[in-house]
Amino acid sequence: MCRHLAYLGPPASVGELLTRGTHSLRSQSWAPREMRGGGTINADGFGVAWWAPPAEATPEHGSGVRWHGGMGSDPDEAETGPPQTTAGPPVVSRYRNASPIWTDPAVDEVLPQLHSTAVLAAIRSATVGMPVERAACAPFTHGRWAFSHNGAIPDWRETLTAIAAQFGSPSLLEAESLTDSATLWVILRVLLEDGTDPGTALRRVVAAVLERSPKARLNLLVGDGETVWATTRHHSLSVLVADDLAVVASEPYDDDPRWRPIADRQLVVVRPGRLIVEPLAVEPPDASGNFSENERAFS
Ligand code: GLN
Repeated sequence: MCRHLAYLGPPASVGELLTRGTHSLRSQSWAPREMRGGGTINADGFGVAWWAPPAEATPEHGSGVRWHGGMGSDPDEAETGPPQTTAGPPVVSRYRNASPIWTDPAVDEVLPQLHSTAVLAAIRSATVGMPVERAACAPFTHGRWAFSHNGAIPDWRETLTAIAAQFGSPSLLEAESLTDSATLWVILRVLLEDGTDPGTALRRVVAAVLERSPKARLNLLVGDGETVWATTRHHSLSVLVADDLAVVASEPYDDDPRWRPIADRQLVVVRPGRLIVEPLAVEPPDASGNFSENERAFS
């Protein structure tokens, strides 16, 4: 198992969120409390993603070359001026390391300098047979999305190869690492990029995986910088929602009485001041793909 956490709220220090509380995500790397048979410690690396509003993000220049600003740094600047940012979704960035989180000085010395209204982080305990490398560490990102998976998919190569065919046949060679989580992300992100409601996308992917691999453990976590979606399938999850913030975490990082445990087999959708918890249905609520009243009210 791994442990993961997502935060939405007032600007917070990215590094501080990793070390916040008496039972911080960093502490959970060596002393987790709710492992549920998924390992002992989470020492196979970590990662954290954060979002910036488009105006603060480094704009793309030309064919994907990053423009770094400053006089004379761009040969076209004199004639065209710097590239203009346009309004759009928040832009996600990330930092990952395959070493135990407690060994990385960036957590105390660099990451606290970054601030964001949205953060998604994970610490990893590699499933047996899977590589320990930076590319295997969540969060996995694509477009505006970030993703983490706490769990494991037995027979993941056969299962996910078969499921990919059900979801537009994305090339599984695009997986960053040869792990169940990285490969699952290649499939899930197809649905997200197609504009499928993220809750519906999670339901469909979870159902498809469980149909072929019924013992799969699927605590999934997706964020887009404004909303967080999560599933529970076997592993622990808690939420803390207040008027101005929302936190989703495998384990509460402190003793705040507002933490609320989430039962197994649920879909969670949170924003500051908003919380939806619904059973993980195999199919969308009706054949037309319409959402429930709760979901409609949220969107
Ligand atoms: N199976 C995933 C991996 O190996 C997640 C592991 C976990 O949740 N412990 O990266």
